[in-house]
Amino acid sequence: MATKINPSFTDELKKYGAVNMNACYNCGTCTAVCSLSTTDESFPREMVRFSALGLEEDLKTSLKPWECYYCGECTASCPQQANPGELMMSLRRWLTAKYDWTGLSGLLYKSLPFMILAMILVFAAVLYFASSISYDLEQMLHAGHNFEMIAIGTIFLIIFIPNLLRMWYFTIVKTKTKVGIKYYFTTLSELFVNMFTQKRLRDCDEADNFRWVEHLVLVLSYLSLLFTTVFLNWFTTENIFVVVFGYLISFIIFVVTAHFVSDRLKKNKSLNKFSQPSDWFFVIWLFLMGVTAFMVRLFIDLDMLVSNKWLYITHLTVLAQWALIIVPFGKWTHFLYRSFGIYFSKLKTLSS
Ligand code: SF4
Ligand code: SF4
Repeated sequence: MATKINPSFTDELKKYGAVNMNACYNCGTCTAVCSLSTTDESFPREMVRFSALGLEEDLKTSLKPWECYYCGECTASCPQQANPGELMMSLRRWLTAKYDWTGLSGLLYKSLPFMILAMILVFAAVLYFASSISYDLEQMLHAGHNFEMIAIGTIFLIIFIPNLLRMWYFTIVKTKTKVGIKYYFTTLSELFVNMFTQKRLRDCDEADNFRWVEHLVLVLSYLSLLFTTVFLNWFTTENIFVVVFGYLISFIIFVVTAHFVSDRLKKNKSLNKFSQPSDWFFVIWLFLMGVTAFMVRLFIDLDMLVSNKWLYITHLTVLAQWALIIVPFGKWTHFLYRSFGIYFSKLKTLSS
């Protein structure tokens, strides 16, 4: 296959957050210091070179950007301030846009006005819906619950499955990797263990196990909140254990995300130095999800929600923006693609 070069690739990647990558003089220090880079899977130097040379196809078929957990070690050691860690992050955003068949991920990543417009449209749709049922609280609670169930199923079927198939096509089929069918099943543990524990983050950042613990707690709390609101109907249940559990996990979510927001504001770590709008939307909306969910249940328990319907409308807006924009087309998808990236990488090592 002839290698195609895209001369405007560096300009394109800058729109996804790459900073100063052309300063790289190929010394290899970044790869030497990266604790996740191996002889077989060597990065990030190669990714920086491919990007600077515009080898778009080689990047599109690569899984290496998903192997990086952004500890920032490479960026701190780069003598040229070429920011290899941020380059890997921008490649993940770019790949997310490439996998997405709708093209919306790319638009939302590159255009803040488009992102704001999408958020406003969802807000307007929620307001229109609430006014169409005369702000009836019971109906709104019922609709909010149904919306969560329908949104999860629809996004999974219409967005995630086709996009994961595209990812598989680019990285396995196009690279002519031959993997026995049985390995897709016997390697599934790799997928789920990484998805739920993100254990490689611990290897990436040995000096900062707290970051791994925080991520683990956040993933587990987020999934628990989803389960509690969707399947245990947290806002209407009278089961005391479910009620208390919901309070606990929504509280944990807003404490952890408040810490993430504060770190991004302080810019005290490599991964927080060049935050893109997608990073801000992700942490702020997750924070708002935790806060508004907690407040809604508190107002229900204090019998105050009927006279404060605006609170539930706020929660419904945050939920709809999260479910329709950030989860399918924003940073949330990294959680999914990274897990599949590690799974596909493992399959490649088993190829014949
Ligand atoms: S990104 Fe920096 S550390 Fe890595 S090869 Fe280039 S100059 Fe060297
Ligand atoms: S940010 Fe960390 S894990 Fe990612 S390439 Fe750099 S050193 Fe490796």
